[in-house]
Amino acid sequence: MNFLKSLFSGASAKPEKRYYTFSVKCLRCGEIIEGRMDLDNDLSIEYEAGRDVYIGRKVLMGANRCFQRMEVDLKFTYNRELIEQEIKGGEFV
Ligand SMILES: [Zn+2]
Repeated sequence: MNFLKSLFSGASAKPEKRYYTFSVKCLRCGEIIEGRMDLDNDLSIEYEAGRDVYIGRKVLMGANRCFQRMEVDLKFTYNRELIEQEIKGGEFV
């Protein structure tokens, strides 16, 4: 019966499925910042050789006094599977 239970609880509230979350670390001060991409609203479609891909860009800044900006570029397939990620000013953790 555990199977049914998890099935139902999984079906009810999973709003985070709409979001791709990631963590980045500032290269200047080492702060870890959580980022979130809204897979419904933040992505723009681009045409690549033979396929459509979805591109999302976020600029993150830490809460500390450090003003380093981190530019995150994420690339997803049509099914919102991450295929590429790039960052400037920080690193993915
Ligand atoms: Zn920083």
